[in-house]
Amino acid sequence: MLGPPGAGKGTVNRLLSERFDYFPISTGEVIRREMADPDSPFGKLARPHMDRGDYVPDDLALSLFFSILKPMSVNAKVALDGFPRTIPQAEVFLDWIQREGHAFHGCVFLDVDVDTAVKRMRHRRVCRDCRAPYHLLHRPPKKAEICDLCGGQVIPREDDDPERVSRRLRRFQEQTNPLLQWFADRDKQFRLNGALEPEENADRVAEHFQLT
Ligand SMILES: [Zn+2]
Repeated sequence: MLGPPGAGKGTVNRLLSERFDYFPISTGEVIRREMADPDSPFGKLARPHMDRGDYVPDDLALSLFFSILKPMSVNAKVALDGFPRTIPQAEVFLDWIQREGHAFHGCVFLDVDVDTAVKRMRHRRVCRDCRAPYHLLHRPPKKAEICDLCGGQVIPREDDDPERVSRRLRRFQEQTNPLLQWFADRDKQFRLNGALEPEENADRVAEHFQLT
């Protein structure tokens, strides 16, 4: 699942994983969790890039995802949000999928205009302790500003400040737009209007990929 920051990738992915038997993996959440762990070598390597609002380098993103995916059951159904996000990542990743005998079903492109994206991001929150994601409109914590899972404090996401958001939008245009065209050229891109309600987009993804 790909789209600019604020397109609603994480929300749509979570809605689908609640209804269907598959495992959602969010690149942003994985990387932020690694960065919050002082013992994570990946977190240390990723931090300078993330702090600037840049993508982490391709080799780093690939090694992180292989370390997550390799131990999973061969029968696991996985929905990735925000990975692969460049053409070099996709080439290595799809080669691996084929070699391992897995199947790749396609790429969902959640397209959204900048105004809608910026409005959405204003409502994003995260638990400072366990990194559980929240959204004040779509998934508010049960008690205001308190994490449902661990009781930690729920705060705005550190990487949602305007400067880093505009840099992530530029990176998306430079590096992920060409990848979306790459998927379209291979007849593997399913485009949705990210400004629609996440529930509606979840329905469309389920129908398109015939999820069960
Ligand atoms: Zn928490």
